[in-house]
Amino acid sequence: MNRFEWVNATTVDQALAAVTEGAAFKAGGVDLLDLMKDGIASPSRLVNIRQISGLDQIREDEDGLRIGPLVTLTQIEEHAAIQKRYPALSEAASRIATPQIRNMATVGGNLVQRPRCWYFRSEDFHCRKKGGTHCFAQDGENDYHAIFDNRVCAIIHPSGMAVPLVALDGRVEITGKKGKREVALEKFFISPVENVRRENILEPGELITAIVVPATTDRNAYYKQGEKESFDWPLADVAVVLAMQGLRCSKASIVLGGAAPYPLRAQAAESKLNNAEVTETNARAAAEAAMANAMPLEKNAYKIPIFEAIIRRTILRAAGMNAEGVAA
Ligand SMILES: Cc1cc2nc3c(=O)[nH]c(=O)nc-3n(C[C@H](O)[C@H](O)[C@H](O)COP(=O)(O)OP(=O)(O)OC[C@H]3O[C@@H](n4cnc5c(N)ncnc54)[C@H](O)[C@@H]3O)c2cc1C
Repeated sequence: MNRFEWVNATTVDQALAAVTEGAAFKAGGVDLLDLMKDGIASPSRLVNIRQISGLDQIREDEDGLRIGPLVTLTQIEEHAAIQKRYPALSEAASRIATPQIRNMATVGGNLVQRPRCWYFRSEDFHCRKKGGTHCFAQDGENDYHAIFDNRVCAIIHPSGMAVPLVALDGRVEITGKKGKREVALEKFFISPVENVRRENILEPGELITAIVVPATTDRNAYYKQGEKESFDWPLADVAVVLAMQGLRCSKASIVLGGAAPYPLRAQAAESKLNNAEVTETNARAAAEAAMANAMPLEKNAYKIPIFEAIIRRTILRAAGMNAEGVAA
């Protein structure tokens, strides 16, 4: 690991002033220090934002949720109002990594963590993400890679929190030296086609200062399918948000993780459910529609039936039904 300077910031202004060229913000440090140890990131200065007061709070009012970026995954998992009204968020947090990591990891860092692609994480492969000309996953070991939008760079987006946050129409407040802006999370994450070197629109030196989720009475659920159902990243995960009138769904929001280089909105699945009754048959049709245009690589077509199963079951669960489509 290269030598670096350490700066403690206790206010947002101090953090923004300290983040000069070549510096990086450190929140929990779970991802950043891994990247530094692997030689993928070598910031000359670490600006420790962990002690900025006020950014570690969750506030709920009639407008919805305001989650500070330094809120830990454990806080989200255990927050009573989130468990009650935004179960997709608490379920997603509870399925990430281990209790020890969830105590350290912040939601801001979770959204901005870098992809887990083993070619990107290895110093031995100069892939497109690092300025090279080749995506080694295309014709390599691509079991865990994207099945949509995988032609430029086949990473899957790593953030489990991003999946329900996009489905719930979450937004991020971004603060930089020039001021504040608020961006829908759906627009925050970008495709490698837009810019293969980065996964989001944050400019150098910009800080996420809040995550905002609108108030909702919609039913919501999240499901993660891992390989070993232990502390691993998902093979496939899904968040479903349903506005229901009786058994009828007036609006569905379905977002997939583990499918594409960004949290992927499954529009075809949403269309099957909008203004339709939620039944096992309709949930199955929606799940199949979600996968209709998948373009798996040589070793990851196995993800398609997994997605079809978890999308169908999560739609039914969000609607309060069991896997057979019977009210639970
Ligand atoms: C064994 C293991 C299993 C894991 N499994 C999962 C999983 O299943 N799902 C999942 O989603 N994650 C998983 N993770 C990843 C883990 O959740 C993330 O590494 C962690 O959430 C990062 O948060 P942090 O606060 O430590 O971020 P840091 O490491 O401090 O920062 C990560 C990045 O975000 C930037 N950053 C941090 N905060 C801000 C901010 N407020 N504004 C702007 N930039 C910021 C930093 O500069 C850095 O680039 C796993 C990790 C491990 C070790």
